[in-house]
Amino acid sequence: KEEFSRGALRTKTVQDVLTPLKECFMLQNDTVLDFGVMSRIMQSGYTRVPVYEEEKSNIVDILYVKDLAMVDPEDRTPLSTITKFYNHPLHFVFDDTKLEAVLEEFKKGKSHLAIVQKVNNEGEGDPFYEVLGLVTLEDVIEEIIKSEILDE
Ligand code: ADP
Repeated sequence: KEEFSRGALRTKTVQDVLTPLKECFMLQNDTVLDFGVMSRIMQSGYTRVPVYEEEKSNIVDILYVKDLAMVDPEDRTPLSTITKFYNHPLHFVFDDTKLEAVLEEFKKGKSHLAIVQKVNNEGEGDPFYEVLGLVTLEDVIEEIIKSEILDE
């Protein structure tokens, strides 16, 4: 049984388990933390919210929802004030990274969320990094549990 779940970690990649960018709950970096925005963040139910500049593929920061504990919506605090203050590091992984390797990264680091990117070398221009979505420890664990159940 253990063999099998380790097998899934060895063969599957981040690409297989990520949450696609279009399904990610994110905020633009010039957002003002008024009552409406703070309600939307709370209602999303997520612990961490990537912050983008101009376009969703350009992720520049990450907001931990717990950072909002002391924020009063009446103050209309700019989101960037909060993200600059906490300045949580952003982690990136490539889409073809094996789950095994991401799991090791998650175990090492403090953050259990990574932004997934790939090298896009289709088309005429120079290759560029394309953001595909995000992956968390939860996505990896879900994959381990799935393969254990299948094996029974
Ligand atoms: P949370 O603590 O926010 O519930 P988890 O790490 O438990 O996040 O992940 C649960 C699922 O939600 C995973 O599939 C993960 O990819 C996804 N997820 C995490 N954060 C976001 C987000 N901001 N927008 C969309 N999906 C997310």
